[in-house]
Amino acid sequence: MSDRVPLWRNPTDSPGGPYTWRIEKHPVLGELLTATCERGHESWLTTKKHSIADDGAVSPSYVCPIDGCGWHVYVRLDGWTGGVFG
Ligand SMILES: [Zn+2]
Repeated sequence: MSDRVPLWRNPTDSPGGPYTWRIEKHPVLGELLTATCERGHESWLTTKKHSIADDGAVSPSYVCPIDGCGWHVYVRLDGWTGGVFG
């Protein structure tokens, strides 16, 4: 699906800018998958609630949970290599 919004992989363990995703090493919860919306809000994306295809396409659509943001899009995680998070 070429109309998906790509999120670029942030290889670091620090928050990235808008339109990025990363694997966050949480001191208690372990490895978590996080995504950052176009306004820079970072939040967790759990693979228990979302399914992520081999090409990184996330289903269902991603909704930024921050009050008043309203970013709601179909995204694709560029550089996705699989795994279970959250
Ligand atoms: Zn947001």
